[in-house]
Amino acid sequence: MTPLSGRWPRSYPIRARRLRDAGIPYVEIATRLEVPFGTVVFWLLSPEARARKRQSDRERNAVTQKPGHLYLGLIEQCASCGERGYVYLRWQLQVKSGRRAFNWDVSHRSGHERHCFFALRLWSGSRINFASPIREQEFRELVGVA
Ligand SMILES: [Zn+2]
Repeated sequence: MTPLSGRWPRSYPIRARRLRDAGIPYVEIATRLEVPFGTVVFWLLSPEARARKRQSDRERNAVTQKPGHLYLGLIEQCASCGERGYVYLRWQLQVKSGRRAFNWDVSHRSGHERHCFFALRLWSGSRINFASPIREQEFRELVGVA
């Protein structure tokens, strides 16, 4: 059984519940369905407990990390693929330390939207046609380049 992008067939939690109701131990259910034990435990939580767990996971992430982005402007030749694109600076703010982990996100919109996503250190941001001088200044202040 191969998971599709981390999801399991909808029938699996139902099967897990049926097995539980038939008195099968959780470990045995995990083995039979070839699903990680923790996943089985999650499926077999009451709907209320599951909702509480989702909420607390969300809150924990919201407290420790905050995503952000800034649209910078156009680039004629993307540093990754060489095509014309719209340049965004994206980051995850580590709330405790106040540090930001930056990445480039170049959006290409020829027909369908495609993104080039790469680490800040891989490109200096040279030859961006900034949307405005204020954008350029914000960018330099964010990444600490004079
Ligand atoms: Zn690209």
